[in-house]
Amino acid sequence: MQPLQLFDPASSTYTYVLFDPATRDAVIIDPVDEQIERDLAVLRENDLRLQWTIETHAHADHITSAYLLAEHAGAKTAAPAGCGIATASKLLVHGDTLVFGGETLKALHTPGHTQGSMSFVWRDHVFTGDTLLINGCGRTDFQSGSSEAMYHSLTQILFALPDATTVWPGHDYQGRTHSSIGQEKAHNARVAGKTLQEFIAIMDALNLPKPRRIDEAVPANLSSGVRHDADAANLAVKSAEGYAGDISNTLAYAWWQAGDAVLVDVRTDAEREWVGQVPGAVSVAWKQWPGMAMNANFDAEIKSAAGGKKVLLLCRSGVRSVAAAKRATELGLQAYNILEGFEGDPDAEAHRGNKGGWRRAGLPWRQG
Ligand code: FE
Repeated sequence: MQPLQLFDPASSTYTYVLFDPATRDAVIIDPVDEQIERDLAVLRENDLRLQWTIETHAHADHITSAYLLAEHAGAKTAAPAGCGIATASKLLVHGDTLVFGGETLKALHTPGHTQGSMSFVWRDHVFTGDTLLINGCGRTDFQSGSSEAMYHSLTQILFALPDATTVWPGHDYQGRTHSSIGQEKAHNARVAGKTLQEFIAIMDALNLPKPRRIDEAVPANLSSGVRHDADAANLAVKSAEGYAGDISNTLAYAWWQAGDAVLVDVRTDAEREWVGQVPGAVSVAWKQWPGMAMNANFDAEIKSAAGGKKVLLLCRSGVRSVAAAKRATELGLQAYNILEGFEGDPDAEAHRGNKGGWRRAGLPWRQG
């Protein structure tokens, strides 16, 4: 059983798709945003259900499509805990496993290229990101890199795997596709037979240029590929109905976590207690049911909640949040409706691939 290996020529990045042949459950490792159409086609053609998008680290040379794959393929996002990717729905630590169908992927913390970098073992394969490359290794001179940590990760963690393990790197610049642990242990030019001091001297002498896209890519990758520039606003579908736009829960979460917006829960106290709530969201109830008194303080409360930021409105299924977004817009706020609400709408198909609500999207919530 081999992984599907995909290549992005612009960044020489390898992306991998692994799947359970029986259940068709899949994971993708290091997807590239510019290849989203290709990757969705690969999933479709192979009849795969994407369970997880997984990062080996916060990349400096391309932007991940993790957030887009969460949107369009319903995947959950996983990333190494030490990489500062706050939007990932699962933060991995050494030894953690991700299950897809009957298959298991195991995370190994292999710092060096970055402090948080990980490699992933699946069956007799290892996906090494920018830690172990074919006849080389990732650079260690920026982004919390450390030659000493790299040496330890290569010699003590990766070279401890069986020699027959197939090595699938995060990049190759010479058209090579894979190697093996035995091959790299014996012949890797940087590390095979080298002492720590020799290895550090080799790494210090590399003098590599700064990656072309680092200033743009790293901030975006810290939020699963959501860009913090003018383009970000265009990811929300503009609404013709008198408010700023409809927004997916994953994008709403990213904006909120980035401090660009305030999350406002417009459900009643009773609903939040009964069904569950989002920790840290502000509660401003929007009451519109027949026989229920309107919240007389709505206008004042939502203005003070916004504090000059965008407001992202969450209700049960995405109906009341539209009404509340319209009202907030009349009050002069930049208001977005979060599609599908907290619990989701049974007609989810109608909503552009949204996955059925905040709670089911794997975003943070707790029992009320
Ligand atoms: Fe990298």
